[in-house]
Amino acid sequence: MTDVRCPFCRDGDSRVIDSRDGDEGVVIRRRRECQACGRRFSTVESVSLHVVKRSGVSEPFSRTKVAAGVRKACQGRPVDEDALARLAQQVEEAVRAGGGAEVPAHEVGLAILGPLRALDEVAYLRFASVYRGFDSLADFEHEISLLRHERDDELVEHPRPDG
Ligand SMILES: [Zn+2]
Repeated sequence: MTDVRCPFCRDGDSRVIDSRDGDEGVVIRRRRECQACGRRFSTVESVSLHVVKRSGVSEPFSRTKVAAGVRKACQGRPVDEDALARLAQQVEEAVRAGGGAEVPAHEVGLAILGPLRALDEVAYLRFASVYRGFDSLADFEHEISLLRHERDDELVEHPRPDG
């Protein structure tokens, strides 16, 4: 934890009374109450997040790397850089929501699958085929049937207003 001191009395003992993400999940704003003088103040804390690869090597989480991995799967697809940036942000938020300072690389991969499926199904299939190691047509068929199934469910759950 960072050393947070009360700006009024310099006491180091404060209690967090409210906490929320700001600035795209890179910082957390906390409302604190000093336990010594009772006054309240806010802090903005940056949070480091590391990705641990299978080799055991850890490196800082990088949205750029997430976007680069997904961009490959999106070749020839109508997915622009803004969409990639938004996806990378969603992935970071999902991974940070776990609360840990370190996440295994495969969890980052898992966090990519959902938003990528919503973005482009073909790109999703490409990414999933590499990430999940599809090795046969049956694997693709299974995944496609899941996609179809979920799409049908969505149509039922969200009927068109004038349909
Ligand atoms: Zn104080």
